[in-house]
Amino acid sequence: MSPILGDINRRDFIKYTAMTAAALGLSQIDVMNKVSEAMAASSSDKPPVIWLEGQDCAGCTTSFASTLNPPAASIILDTISLRYHETIMAASGHKSEQALHHTVKEGGYVLLVEGSIPLADGRFCMIAGRPFEEIVLECAKNAAAIIAVGACATYGGVPAAGPTGSVGVREVVKNKPIINISTCPVHPDHLVGTIVYYLTTGKVPPLDKEGRPLMYFGESIHDNCRRHAYFEEGKLLQDWNDPEQKNWCLIDKGCKGPVTYADCSVRRWNDGLNFCIDCGAGCRGCAEPIFYAGMSPLYSDPTGKAEELKKEAKIREAKRKELNTGKEVK
Ligand code: SF4
Ligand code: SF4
Repeated sequence: MSPILGDINRRDFIKYTAMTAAALGLSQIDVMNKVSEAMAASSSDKPPVIWLEGQDCAGCTTSFASTLNPPAASIILDTISLRYHETIMAASGHKSEQALHHTVKEGGYVLLVEGSIPLADGRFCMIAGRPFEEIVLECAKNAAAIIAVGACATYGGVPAAGPTGSVGVREVVKNKPIINISTCPVHPDHLVGTIVYYLTTGKVPPLDKEGRPLMYFGESIHDNCRRHAYFEEGKLLQDWNDPEQKNWCLIDKGCKGPVTYADCSVRRWNDGLNFCIDCGAGCRGCAEPIFYAGMSPLYSDPTGKAEELKKEAKIREAKRKELNTGKEVK
């Protein structure tokens, strides 16, 4: 049982992975068999995992640990052997560093990296007296798989907008495939599903050109948004205080859904409860490599994509009217 996050039994774990079978591109029976085998094999020798934190706010750890249904953090901590995690590990000081060095020496672990890596000067992020870049390179060497967790570790995130020259793992580790699970913070389902995929298949899932698993980042937020019909109709929210506009498209309020690839509009967050757009906030584009600096200011259209899409939607709307009325619309 995890002392931090509580317990979950094998049956719950298998049930959860069966629920994600479709996302993994496997049949439910396949997934359940493979997970059962992996768990049986790992009961005495669980897959070792190192979770590093660099320039981060620990938001990805928090996101991962606070998911309730099922408790993903508990699943992973009960199923794997988490050898090093600065925020939740019981050991500290030399003992924790010893655990890290020992695991790196053994090799064959899954390396999770949260937080960006400063390249302008190593002193921007030092752990146990060593620059974070050096630690990442050392841990990457003997890793069986490397997963960059969240916007900072994937592409630099918020710290990349500052003076530290922060980058994601792929800019530092060049000789191994990196699985990028972006969004700020990481979506627990994306992380758990990717780890389960790796543990059950032994392979890196199919990735897009930005290194993100296609099963989670294959379609745009805009394409699956429930406000899309309003966008097509040209009903674009201008006044948040007007009840009539409550559900209209947020593109004129800086929504980055059209240039952002992630499944938030279908999967949603907080166990499917809600997500940015349904809160009326618009998408900030946190799944994309240009987040944060390239998506700012948040309430504007720095990529220029919105105007282009609006023009195309107007043409489509005119054509629809023409078809419906039989009259040519000027
Ligand atoms: S612009 Fe944003 S709010 Fe509007 S349809 Fe696209 S994703 Fe939804
Ligand atoms: S909807 Fe956009 S801003 Fe919100 S979590 Fe998803 S990608 Fe990030």
